[in-house]
This record gives sequence, structure tokens and C-alpha cells, in this order.
Amino acid sequence: MKSKQQVESAAIVLECRDHGESDLIVTFFCEHHGRLTGIAKGAKRSKKRFVNKLEIFSSLRILHSTPQNNRLVFIAEADLLNGFLTLRENISCYTTANVIREFILLATKEIEGDDELYPLLIWAYHSLNTGHASLPVLILFLIRFYAIIGYGPQLEICHQCRQQIHMDRSYSFNISTGGIHCNRCDGTGAKPQIQLSKGTLKTLTAVLNQPLNRLHRLQFSETSQKEALFFLHSYGRQLFQREIISWAFLVDERKH
Ligand SMILES: [Zn+2]
Repeated sequence: MKSKQQVESAAIVLECRDHGESDLIVTFFCEHHGRLTGIAKGAKRSKKRFVNKLEIFSSLRILHSTPQNNRLVFIAEADLLNGFLTLRENISCYTTANVIREFILLATKEIEGDDELYPLLIWAYHSLNTGHASLPVLILFLIRFYAIIGYGPQLEICHQCRQQIHMDRSYSFNISTGGIHCNRCDGTGAKPQIQLSKGTLKTLTAVLNQPLNRLHRLQFSETSQKEALFFLHSYGRQLFQREIISWAFLVDERKH
């Protein structure tokens, strides 16, 4: 039963750690509250209420106390919506889901909702869980993710002269300015530059202009996939000014 001070949220489990003998501290990414950390009292004892639910990547409906700044909420109940089991059982799914998790944790603060980020996260985990190739899912996720958090790489106009990019050849992307350079301005920007071929550039741009349910129609050649991953990783490191720790464990399933 929901009391007056309680709120119901759809949420993905991002982190889960022991607290004392019987409690768990859990960080979620919620549909309307964004990142939220709460305590599940007695979760390690009460099999019925929480067992198999408070696990990383799980999609839940939780009943919790009203969020207030920098305070743990009390998790009263949790219902499993989707355990996303493949994400824990398949190595390439797991490592990709983990990179996505790290980016969400890096970019979000407590109780800061975003109407676009939650559906994107669900889309990515659902795609991995239903057998879509993991590295393309990561590329599609990241390009949308950067745009949603307000730091989308500028791919359609030249960073320097603001002219439209024609995408008729490869272009260099300047990681430190977050923009691309056209033919005329090429080479005048500061290092480091990353080459993006026209195929990669076109696909990455298309990712931003498609609804989520059509993203899987976009295909990446092996070269494009490599280029895009290198680009998105370098861009993320520059943006957050730190290494993305889980990136080193990514597995390319085509090599297995
Ligand atoms: Zn230019």
C-alpha cells in the first residue's frame, strides 16, 4: 500500500552495496527523479520483498519516500519489470551495459530528472537483452547520450567558419573544441584531431535524427564501428576529464 509520503517510480538499478548486517544501499536511475540513492531496510533478510530484484541493470517499479536533496530515500517495495538477465549472463552484453552504467553515473547528479535519458537507457538495455550486437548499441546510445546531456558533438557545421559540412569526404574532428572542421579550415585547429570518414559521419548524424525505435536500421561497417567507438571514447574522456574505467573491458562479440 502506498502512503501519502510515498512515491512510485520506474527505475534501473545502477549500484548496490551492503550496509550493515541486513540493509542494502541502492542507486537507481529513475524515470522522473533521475539518479536516486536509497536504503532497502532488511533487504538481505527479507527474501520476499527484494530478492533477485535489487541487482544491477534490473528494471523495477519501486515504492519509496519522497526524494529530498542529499538524503537517502527509504525503499519500501520493489517489483521486477525486467531483470535483463542476458546483461548479466553474456560477457559482451555485460561489459557494454557496464560502460553505459558508468556514463550514466558520471553524467547525473542526485534527483535531477530528464525525460529523455531514462527512455534511452531502457532502449539500450532492452536492445542488448534482446540480442542486438552490443557495440553498435553502445555507439547509438553514446551519440544520443551526449546530445541529451547538452554536449552533443557538433557534426553538421564547421566549428570554425560555421558553414554546413557536406560529408563528401573524411573530416577531422577536434576533440578539445568538440567540433568538426571543413575543407578550408582544416589543419588550423588545435590538436588532437580524429579522422571521421564520410560513412561514419553520415551514420552518426542520422542517429540524432531518428526516433529510438528506428535506430537499429542504421548499420555500421567494421571500419565505421571502429572509428565511431574510438571517437566516442576519446570525446567522453575529454568531456568528463577522466578515464572511462569500464571501457577497457569491452568485448567485440564478432571475435568470439
Ligand atoms: Zn570551416
